[in-house]
Amino acid sequence: MNENLPIPAYFIITFFISRLKSSINKSKAWTALNHQPNTLRHDPEALTLASSDYGNMVKEIPAAVLEPSSINGVVHLISYAYNNSAPFQIAARGQGHSVRGQAMAKNGVVIDMSALRRNRKTPGIVVSRRWTTGEFYADVGGEQLWIDVLNATLAYGVTPVSWTDYLYITVGGTLSNGGISGQSFRYGPQVSNVVEMDVVTGKGNMVTCSPKRNSELFHAVLGGLGQFGIIARARIALEPAPTRVKWVRMLYSNFSAFTKDQERLISLNGRKQTNALNYLEGLVLLHHGSPDSWRSSFFPPSDHPRIISLANQNSVIYCLEVVKYYDDHTQSTIDKELEVLLEGLDYESGFKFEKDVTYVEFLNRVRNGELKLKSKGLWDVPHPWLNLFVPRSRILDFESGVFKDIVLRRNVTRGPILIYPMNRSKWDDRNSTVIPDEEVFYTIGFLHSSGFDDWKKFEEQNQEILEYCGKSGIEIKQYLPHYKTQTQWIQHFGSKWTTFRDNKFKFDPKHILSPGQNIFNS
Ligand code: FAD
Repeated sequence: MNENLPIPAYFIITFFISRLKSSINKSKAWTALNHQPNTLRHDPEALTLASSDYGNMVKEIPAAVLEPSSINGVVHLISYAYNNSAPFQIAARGQGHSVRGQAMAKNGVVIDMSALRRNRKTPGIVVSRRWTTGEFYADVGGEQLWIDVLNATLAYGVTPVSWTDYLYITVGGTLSNGGISGQSFRYGPQVSNVVEMDVVTGKGNMVTCSPKRNSELFHAVLGGLGQFGIIARARIALEPAPTRVKWVRMLYSNFSAFTKDQERLISLNGRKQTNALNYLEGLVLLHHGSPDSWRSSFFPPSDHPRIISLANQNSVIYCLEVVKYYDDHTQSTIDKELEVLLEGLDYESGFKFEKDVTYVEFLNRVRNGELKLKSKGLWDVPHPWLNLFVPRSRILDFESGVFKDIVLRRNVTRGPILIYPMNRSKWDDRNSTVIPDEEVFYTIGFLHSSGFDDWKKFEEQNQEILEYCGKSGIEIKQYLPHYKTQTQWIQHFGSKWTTFRDNKFKFDPKHILSPGQNIFNS
């Protein structure tokens, strides 16, 4: 047993495992679960991994870690817990890229979904074509990484249309949250691009669901923070893949001009509309920071001094980032199309920068930064992130109260600050995802990296931002939310709370799943 465990935790775990073992032998489900090559581990290495995440601020030690060899292992575990006189809690751990223990299960069992990727005997990603319509889709295991979905689908010349900025996270993990990036304004979040799923509910039942079949479960699970079931398979809509992208960044010193231009560009958002961008994001650049961050080195080094000078003159500047895809058929027209789209934008003259890269290089842009940080030992540090959705009507108040006041005054920000708008109409209101009640809303991400001894000062800044929004009546919603009490969760879900709570009762009545979200056990 792990020498580093606090003594009480050691006893709880020993007690839990022996209790589990004594009742295990009587259970057929458990016999099946423990049948090789499913592995139930409680060695220090497995427990340590399952009690940590990307955030590096929370530690909850499970009693055991299941490394399933197939989804049946997951079914058996949940059935066993559900039918046990003293049910225990279970969390699927995708890549553990949550930041506040959301994929942990204190004294329960963590399912290491990466084991399913390694062990499964059936393919985890299958690309098919519908006879009737000719449309492509991919059937993807919830444990699969988006980078693997990208590579597998490109082999057929097709691709998902909605992404996250970073691709080494799991399909089940992002669909439990939403899955957003610069494509969301046009294609919706990832949860808007799923047409069917297989889900193992909190009762241990494997259920196929879609908007037409078991639709309550389907919509509950999308954005459902792992509360209703474990996503075993998701069917994802695909479209023809481009091969290259034009990637442009423009700098603004005037925030109203920046948001006005962002909003104008996202108003062109028809999925099939040819004169629309494929991706739009934005960044806040602070005077004391570098123009580039670990996530991307975009600006030519020779231009860094004048960008820094612009930031120093203004304290805060803003970067509009857009992308238009192209391929062999559109190669001759892409420059003109982009020129027309960007005509009349009000960025600082002389501060437009352009790149031309492959589609894969663009989508996988965060990977190089990750590898660099890993090589310097800087990846596994605390990440006191704060991700918010802010209604469009209050974005100027947010700028003046947060970027121009709290952030500058505290002067601690380390890491990128993302800011980009999306369209509410691209989100399905039946899903569990929670967004502001305005057609256009912004996502703002403070993606801090800190040291192990100073992450609290970033948390203090996060707290001040939340308090400022509360006091000023800015009706923000947290993305990748984290709350300490159920009252706060009720406030977060607003009019969706009753449905969310009723669905929990239907699909996970014993509150077995995803305890790390702290919604039903707070
Ligand atoms: P985990 O953190 O392991 O799990 C998240 C939650 O989902 C947990 O509650 C877990 O129990 C549950 N869960 C996991 N698998 C399943 C499953 N199969 N079925 C049901 N529930 C499950 N998000 C964005 O939307 N856009 C971005 O651009 C983006 N960029 C990121 C960049 C980086 C560097 C990092 C670290 C994260 C980023 N994220 C982004 C956040 C990411 O979406 C979340 O971390 C998400 O939780 C996915 O991570 P994961 O696969 O490791 O899931």
